[in-house]
Amino acid sequence: MNAQTSSPTVFDVQRIRADFPLLSRTVHDKPLVYFDNANTSQKPRTVIEAVDAHYRRHNANVSRAVHQLGEEATAAYEGARDKLARFINAGTREQLILTSGTTQATNLVAYSYVMPRLQPGDAILSTVMEHHANIVPWQLVAQRRGATVKAAPINERGELLVEQYIAMLTPEVKLACVTHVSNVLGTVNPVREIARECRKRGIALLVDGSQAVPHRPVDVQALGCDFYAFTGHKMLAPTGTGALWARREHLEAMPPFFGGGEMIREVRFDGTTFAAPPHKFEAGTPNIAGFVGMAAAIDYIESVGFAAIQTWEQQLLQYATERLHEVPGLRIIGEAAGKEPVISFLVDGAQATDLATLLDLEGIAVRSGHHCAHPLMQFYGVPATLRASLAFYNTREEIDSFLDALLKVRRMLR
Ligand code: PMP
Repeated sequence: MNAQTSSPTVFDVQRIRADFPLLSRTVHDKPLVYFDNANTSQKPRTVIEAVDAHYRRHNANVSRAVHQLGEEATAAYEGARDKLARFINAGTREQLILTSGTTQATNLVAYSYVMPRLQPGDAILSTVMEHHANIVPWQLVAQRRGATVKAAPINERGELLVEQYIAMLTPEVKLACVTHVSNVLGTVNPVREIARECRKRGIALLVDGSQAVPHRPVDVQALGCDFYAFTGHKMLAPTGTGALWARREHLEAMPPFFGGGEMIREVRFDGTTFAAPPHKFEAGTPNIAGFVGMAAAIDYIESVGFAAIQTWEQQLLQYATERLHEVPGLRIIGEAAGKEPVISFLVDGAQATDLATLLDLEGIAVRSGHHCAHPLMQFYGVPATLRASLAFYNTREEIDSFLDALLKVRRMLR
């Protein structure tokens, strides 16, 4: 089924929930309400079974063995690359480096692409709403080179000030980056427009797609960016999976970052040569079983279809937002138009962590904290928020249970 065109008229959420074994468990003797999907998603049975079947029947290392199992494991791993390449319209499979997640992907770009290009006085442009994975790697390489990391501003609604971002694309900027979707605010940034402006100025753009790939079809070529990094575990795949997509010319020019097995052509003490991309950047034994699960995750998402996923998630977002507005003293942080189903909020007179702890006793899993976005917390002048992040397997009834529990625990804290 095509992920971008399928659109069942009736969304049978109960049938979908039956595919996710964990969703039927209880927590503290209460039915689980899992609203921490921006942190990591739950996994459908097909993903769990694919990983299980890999270890039961096909387990071997990739690319090293000519025996049957080695061939099966290699075919499964490289097959996952093909599937992922189609999923994001990578162009060619060689442009997709399989990583342990976004963090490894941004660090790879920092050390292999950015650091060799940085001179004292240069800069990297980030934004106030980024996850630390899209800030700290740039700071580490900038410090080594006497360069700086600049942050483009946002407004109170949690929207990027795009004109200011563009104005900050000055000649000393050697890489610009932006999150496709904010993990705290749900804001969707205008990546195509930003990519167009970066290209006009010859500045490479890295997009953090971690929170986009679970919710919307992504076409990296249409976006026009230079690098697209994302993580698998938020899109139904096992933890320790992710990828970096890059323009071919960058991958050819970039030196390897990790050295070791799998990434070489020939090793000699008088000069080692390297494999072609993507293997040049994939040293060591990868997370083979994880990527087998990733392939099953993509199949699952495509069988539901992004059209249906988006329609349902937007209905849930709207309903949850309306219901939260009923809570006295509750403030939603992040009110951008067209946002993804992530709702950060604060409740007057209650600490976010206390609320989250009490909600947990009611079976409700939400996240409290800084969400690896300290600069964003500094912008709003708060140490932490509560965050309810939804997925297509959530229901209106769960939102009602969440609201009942929130009203109850709020009374307990007053
Ligand atoms: N960027 C964003 C926007 C995220 O939400 C996350 C995960 N919270 C990351 C980067 C880091 O992903 P990972 O921990 O899988 O590397």
